[in-house]
Amino acid sequence: MIEKAASRFFFYFCAMDETEKVVLLLGSNIKPREKYLEDAVSLLEGYLGKSTAVSKVYESEPWGFESKTSFYNMAVVFDTRKTPEEVLHLCLQTEKTLGRVRSSVEGYTSRTMDVDILYFGNRVINSKRLTVPHPRLHLRRFTLLPLVETVPELIHPLLNKNQKKLLHECPDKSGVKLVN
Ligand code: ATP
Ligand code: CA
Ligand code: CA
Repeated sequence: MIEKAASRFFFYFCAMDETEKVVLLLGSNIKPREKYLEDAVSLLEGYLGKSTAVSKVYESEPWGFESKTSFYNMAVVFDTRKTPEEVLHLCLQTEKTLGRVRSSVEGYTSRTMDVDILYFGNRVINSKRLTVPHPRLHLRRFTLLPLVETVPELIHPLLNKNQKKLLHECPDKSGVKLVN
């Protein structure tokens, strides 16, 4: 009896301790872009604790709309016990704190900060507010390059391929370069 209670306690103790790897993509195309990225990482670390990996900063042409200013993007990885909804809320809060104004115009527009959830462990989520893995991550070189840098072996739970393979097979040939 005592043994059973002890093993149950051990099970719950371990379950409580489980963290999940969440991979975020940050993007900015309003100057000063590097400062917005730095501030976003600080805010997110305040909410989620120290990141376990950060990529370099990549510069890319706007994807899906015209803009004079190119995008700066980077990936940031955390281990978290928070729920996906909680993390989404913190991502949107980060955008808001950095002055993102959501326009009523349909489609992509310039933004001080965009924070997308790319992966949340190996979960597949299709709710009204959240789609995970991010549905367009495998179509975008500016997303796959920082993913290959930070989590090269992570398997996409729907496409069953790691990030290196997704980049190799990516149809997007647009220019993405490292910012020095
Ligand atoms: P894209 O998703 O193609 O990169 P976007 O980042 O410009 O486009 P937003 O206007 O920033 O799109 O996002 C609008 C909404 O998308 C958010 O309010 C959020 O509820 C929803 N959303 C769904 N899945 C995700 C996800 N994986 N990460 C972040 N937001 C998501
Ligand atoms: Ca986005
Ligand atoms: Ca977004």
